[in-house]
Amino acid sequence: AKDAGRNRVRFFSPAMQIAIEARLALEHALRRALREEELRLYFQPQIDQHGRYIGAEALVRWHSREQGTLIPPMQFIPLAEETGLILGLGQWVVREACQQLKAWEADPQTRELQLAVNVSARQLQQPDFVAQIRDSLAESGANPARLKLELTESAFLANTQQIDERMKQLRALGVSFSLDDFGTGFSSLSYLKRLPFDQLKIDQAFVRDVTTDPNDAAIVAAILAMSRSLGLEIIAEGVETEAQRDFLLENGCHGFQGYLFGRPAPIEDLAQVW
Ligand code: C2E
Ligand code: CA
Ligand code: CA
Ligand code: CA
Repeated sequence: AKDAGRNRVRFFSPAMQIAIEARLALEHALRRALREEELRLYFQPQIDQHGRYIGAEALVRWHSREQGTLIPPMQFIPLAEETGLILGLGQWVVREACQQLKAWEADPQTRELQLAVNVSARQLQQPDFVAQIRDSLAESGANPARLKLELTESAFLANTQQIDERMKQLRALGVSFSLDDFGTGFSSLSYLKRLPFDQLKIDQAFVRDVTTDPNDAAIVAAILAMSRSLGLEIIAEGVETEAQRDFLLENGCHGFQGYLFGRPAPIEDLAQVW
């Protein structure tokens, strides 16, 4: 084992070497993107059972000047999480979102809208996470009741008690919580029981085949029935067709998000719609 340690460098194949360099280059570029404000928030509308807008989810995009393209989050969020860059990125997202909320408050058309922000496990694990949110709300003057934090199961794998405490503090400020990608993990139900969530988001993996796969249809119907009896709000994600929407409506769904209602877009595009 000692020999292996001493000679470690030699074991990198050329392919691995290239992969490592590509990662380093990406990390470097992302660091600069944060500094030089190449990140943008896109907004995807959420609607209720009557087709009224109830809010939006903020989704980050990277407009790379160097590459001249728009880089989707799946190509940099995982790296940001590994390297810790997600902390700065996440703080930027929350600040932007709060400023957007404040701007919406000025217009009667948008005053009531909620804005959902994705928060990754590492962000939530920072000791000063609650203070960060409180400061962003205070600096912007946004109404905390309009801010929703979307968490996935990965946020609870460690130290649930601390997380629980933080969620309670944030709720005391008026912020609400959504359990994202519901149904894809192993223990979503136990988190739902232990932690103070307001909303569930049915993962798009279940919505996709809801009209063709009887198992998915049964799962979605059961999640909807459960959320109703638990008094939880619900959003079905990835709704692309009218048939999917109709199935969801018939089963009592009251929140929808997906390409059928609008793709994530810059705020100017959304403002034209509502
Ligand atoms: P997510 O939170 O599950 O977000 C929903 C994803 O589904 C978004 O992908 C959205 O564009 C996509 N989507 C929405 N409607 C439809 C539809 O009808 N059909 C299909 N096929 N897809 C739809 P996006 O924007 O590429 O984001 C991917 C993931 O990146 C997000 O998944 C989230 O986990 C992460 N992410 C995005 N922004 C942030 C952020 O600000 N912070 C953190 N920590 N993660 C983020
Ligand atoms: Ca989300
Ligand atoms: Ca999701
Ligand atoms: Ca997801």
